[in-house]
Amino acid sequence: MIFERTPAEVLARLDEMREADAPTEGGRLLSYVYDPDIAELQEVAAEAARKTQALNGLDPTTFPSVAAMERDLVALARDVLADGVPDVVGSVTSGGTESCMLAVKSARDTWRAATGRSDRPTLLIGSTAHAAFIKAAHYLDLNLRVLPVDPDTCRLRAEDVAASLDGAVALVVVSTPSYPHGAVDPVAEIAETCAGRGVPVHVDGCIGAWVLPWWPGAEERPAWDLRVPGVESISVDLHKYGYAPKGVSVLLYRDRDRHRRQWFATSAWPGYAVVNPTILGSRSVMPLAAGWTVSQTLGRSGFAELTQQIARATEQVHKAIYSIEGLRVVGDPIGPLLAVAADPEVAPERQVDPHRWADAAKDLGWTLQPQPGRTQSDGTTLPRTTHLTVTPVTEKVSVELCDALAVAADSARGMPGAQAPADFVAAAGQIRMDDLTSENCAAVLAMVGMEPGGGLAGPMSEVLALIEALPEPVAERLLIEFLARFME
Ligand SMILES: *Cc1c(COP(=O)(O)O)cnc(C)c1O
Repeated sequence: MIFERTPAEVLARLDEMREADAPTEGGRLLSYVYDPDIAELQEVAAEAARKTQALNGLDPTTFPSVAAMERDLVALARDVLADGVPDVVGSVTSGGTESCMLAVKSARDTWRAATGRSDRPTLLIGSTAHAAFIKAAHYLDLNLRVLPVDPDTCRLRAEDVAASLDGAVALVVVSTPSYPHGAVDPVAEIAETCAGRGVPVHVDGCIGAWVLPWWPGAEERPAWDLRVPGVESISVDLHKYGYAPKGVSVLLYRDRDRHRRQWFATSAWPGYAVVNPTILGSRSVMPLAAGWTVSQTLGRSGFAELTQQIARATEQVHKAIYSIEGLRVVGDPIGPLLAVAADPEVAPERQVDPHRWADAAKDLGWTLQPQPGRTQSDGTTLPRTTHLTVTPVTEKVSVELCDALAVAADSARGMPGAQAPADFVAAAGQIRMDDLTSENCAAVLAMVGMEPGGGLAGPMSEVLALIEALPEPVAERLLIEFLARFME
């Protein structure tokens, strides 16, 4: 075989491209990555991926190791999240979005089977539920009903859910905790209300369900998993606090029939029998094998120990933010996620805009995640915030991190938050949806210095201000255009 390039050359090119990436290790990126800071775990995950590289997860009867690894992961999740509940079954999916979408598909098809109706049921969520549920309603054609959360605690209220239940609701979603604010919804209260009306509840534990079981004080807190009657399904991502490489999540159901309605099978074509538990057909076994290997290696005690490390680091960061004048942690988070807003109790000139703060932290080498402010359907507002995801590695860098957070706040204090330029908002407001061609969108983006093909011209605070100011459909279309041009 004559290669066009030597593998060494190609791999060197990859290393070169990787230099532009944010660092995935070392704790300076406080979202997207979950670094346990254990080199050996990375090695075993890579080795497992290598051993399963050529497999196809499409057919576990041809490759029974796929079924065996899935069985172990489902059993482990059942052990942690459904203690003592009989007959719990589930699947391994490619990630949180797929787990959430499949839970919605199962609920939609169960609702249709039970009611005999073929129209659209309702998906009932709180405003802090993960966007994957907005995507699920969009892809699977359900009516989405979004309830406001309590603006102080950022939790969904059971009474609001109760008042919204009707025969069209196929599924209610609660979060343990929510991604934006780390708020744990009152699962037992909501599930009790829903069970009384025969409406299933899905617990989105994608990010939290692999830390909350071991979080300090877990025994004293009310149950929030499949042990709670009325909770019919739960999702947990092993590519977050399961420390697996991306591409592995677990979805559990209390009931076999609900699980089966997540599946798709067809014999109506002249090829092989298609029987798919998840969305993909042919699929990589590498993330499953890597996730399996990491969880077998760590075991429950390993996860528990890493969680203690995260909890200590979270407490340190929380305290550091508490002591910074002009900032506050939003609500009463349980777990490793913190949302930080400007403190409305201090004078405006002493407040710190959380997005300016994130920009300043970025200049110091720490990447935090700005989140837009939003007005809810009842007129209350969720303030703009900056999000931090704390992971085991955070403990190692917590002193440095806390110093940087204070220094960044000092440099941003009193600076007004970014606002979208009025002429831009006016121009964007004039655009009709059917005028949002790729070309028009690129022209609008150019008005704010986001040139086609270029990166972000300014700081993130300015981008977020645009997202906050624009009507949702326009903002969404411009985001697509921006990223598509960036990728092109
Ligand atoms: C991350 C997350 C999801 C979506 O997961 P992906 O793995 O990014 O697709 C869903 N829900 C919550 C609460 C999450 O944090």
